[in-house]
Amino acid sequence: MSHQHETQCQHILENLSAYLDGELDATCCEEIETHLQSCRDCQIVAGTLKETIHLCQAEGRDVRLPRAARTRLFDRLGLDNGRKDE
Ligand SMILES: [Zn+2]
Repeated sequence: MSHQHETQCQHILENLSAYLDGELDATCCEEIETHLQSCRDCQIVAGTLKETIHLCQAEGRDVRLPRAARTRLFDRLGLDNGRKDE
């Protein structure tokens, strides 16, 4: 896994919740969808995120992913949100 790939993943994951909320414009959506087609890690996160949002909606809660859950997802992928490479 190249450094560039990980950077791309981080960019995608940062925008994933906005993407699922339908807040991104068509260009950004396309960028994410293209990446998801080629990246299994991000596919898994997107699936998990979708499920989480679905569950929240079912419970009538705010559909935004709580910061803690997002941090956990990043952590699981080894993408420490906001931290630069060492
Ligand atoms: Zn990715």
